[in-house]
Amino acid sequence: IKKLAVLTSGGDSPGMNAAVRAVVRTCAFMEIECMAIYRGYEGMIEGDFVPFNARSVNNIINKGGTILKSARCEEFRTPEGRQKAYDQLKAAGIDCFVVIGGDGSFRGASIFYKEFGIPVIGIPGTIDNDIFGTQFTLGFDTALNTVVEAIDKIRDTASSHSRLFFVEVMGRDVGHIALNAGVAAGAEETLIPEQNLGLERLLDSLKRSKKSGKSSSIVVVAEGDKTGKNVFELKEYVEKNLPIYDVRVSVLGHIQRGGSPTAFDRVLASRMGVKAVESLLEGKANLMVGIVANEMVLTPIDDAVKGHTKIDRELIRVSDIMTI
Ligand code: ADP
Repeated sequence: IKKLAVLTSGGDSPGMNAAVRAVVRTCAFMEIECMAIYRGYEGMIEGDFVPFNARSVNNIINKGGTILKSARCEEFRTPEGRQKAYDQLKAAGIDCFVVIGGDGSFRGASIFYKEFGIPVIGIPGTIDNDIFGTQFTLGFDTALNTVVEAIDKIRDTASSHSRLFFVEVMGRDVGHIALNAGVAAGAEETLIPEQNLGLERLLDSLKRSKKSGKSSSIVVVAEGDKTGKNVFELKEYVEKNLPIYDVRVSVLGHIQRGGSPTAFDRVLASRMGVKAVESLLEGKANLMVGIVANEMVLTPIDDAVKGHTKIDRELIRVSDIMTI
């Protein structure tokens, strides 16, 4: 292997820049050439490549988003699009690449690998923490900390006015952000896609907390919670059935995707970047780098894409006990 490329693809997440930096610096350390591919697979198809050296990635470890830009690319889903991408890589002398992205990006990478045999290693970058084969994805810790900070602030105003707040956080299919934020920020209840607590239990819990003298309450709601109601409908429901509360809603939205990565995400990105390049140099391919029990591990990309992540049952229990 003489020349390696790196790209960021799909939804962005904090820590992607730190991972790009790690890949580029590892290439420099190993004395192989490194090309940055801009705008994900779109840039691959268009040949939007720039040679990077160790100094090209100065001062980016602390930056959110991705300096390489990301894109969703329909053309890469077609054989013709992927053929163009292959031709561009060959013309530029690129032997292999690292893709930093979510499971869509991995699906694309795997199909591309099977068609053209260009070795690829994936680094999981998504705030949702919903990728099989790693306990942590890049950006999850940062997003979680952003959510906890926001809820702490909401709590200040909630307790001044004795209000109940429904706080919606990201998580259409998984409740990792919601559950962890609920525990860390001391939420009254946490509604996640993985289990349906039912509206009755929510009312009971809110009644109980009012009785016990709590002046304010926070309920964390993942986007994909199973009550069948969104945060605004939940507000209406509680106002109707439990008029003792003054209810407010806060939807955190895209602030969860941005911001300077936490130390945890920066360290994880650095470790993943090194592992990805080393694995390619060892002749490995079509794998994803992950972290399990604080060790760097490799999982077949196809398993990462098809496997499901499980919500932490022990943490659900902890959450239940804390809301007594
Ligand atoms: P994420 O990587 O964050 O899950 P997407 O699902 O949008 O984001 O995927 C990113 C890109 O990966 C898509 O825009 C597309 O170019 C490529 N991709 C996703 N799924 C496939 C697929 N089944 N075949 C080929 N390319 C795909």
